[in-house]
Amino acid sequence: MIAAGADWIHFDVMDGQFVPPITFGAALVESLRPLGKTRFEAHLMTLTPDRHFAAFAEAGCERIVFHAEATPHAHRLAQTLRAEGLGAGVAINPGTPVEALFPLLDVIDVALVMTVNPGWGGQSLITACIEKVRRLRELRPNLEIEVDGGVDDQTIGPLWDAGATTFVAGSYLLRSASVEGSMRTLRDACALRS
Ligand code: ZN
Repeated sequence: MIAAGADWIHFDVMDGQFVPPITFGAALVESLRPLGKTRFEAHLMTLTPDRHFAAFAEAGCERIVFHAEATPHAHRLAQTLRAEGLGAGVAINPGTPVEALFPLLDVIDVALVMTVNPGWGGQSLITACIEKVRRLRELRPNLEIEVDGGVDDQTIGPLWDAGATTFVAGSYLLRSASVEGSMRTLRDACALRS
């Protein structure tokens, strides 16, 4: 991914609590940090993001995305991340209304709209989530809106049209013959529409 020119490396951290699977901790991020200068982002699918965001920051993540569903103190946590010099992002699951993000928009750097239910790679995009992107974009013309789940050469167009600006792609790239070629396909799909 780094060699292919990704803008970010997005780490899906799962704790076996917020979502059933367990993936990895900060040690993995730290071990990959020397591979390049590509920006690292931790997507904490965890119940206690306030307890371990610092470990991911120390491991080399410059942006931390946590879930609105995980904490009653999303606003405060976003402020804390910024105070620590980190990019702050809040994610919402497909079952969470987009309105959950509205009170947070002044304290976050990126809004992440999950386009599949978190926990497993390789799922198909839930098209109802595209409308959330559209509503966020109407409200905030300059907000970075990230989408995560089911991004491929077919779905990226409608997501881009709705206003998404950052695209997390995993399975689509890894299953293709060439990560670099498929990344170009995704970028071209956006460029052709802009
Ligand atoms: Zn993710």
